[in-house]
Amino acid sequence: MATSMIEQTWQRDADCRGAQREYFFPPAAGERRDQRERREQRAKAVCAECPVRAPCLDYALARNETHGIWGGRTELERQRLAAAATR
Ligand code: SF4
Repeated sequence: MATSMIEQTWQRDADCRGAQREYFFPPAAGERRDQRERREQRAKAVCAECPVRAPCLDYALARNETHGIWGGRTELERQRLAAAATR
């Protein structure tokens, strides 16, 4: 319960709420590599200014999120962070 309330607190301050949400997850119809790279750069630019970047990344790492940009990191970048943390 307490954890849930904390999550709701930081998510309220997320810069990716609203119209920019489409940058953070791939479209259902798929995308070319160049489209993915452009989309991810747009998402990362939003994350770079986001006041809750650290708790967002912690949240994604703790839950092993496998999709989307969280805390300014792609899925692959989060996998590398998690692997490095276990070494
Ligand atoms: S760090 Fe990025 S993904 Fe996380 S809440 Fe902020 S804008 Fe959204």
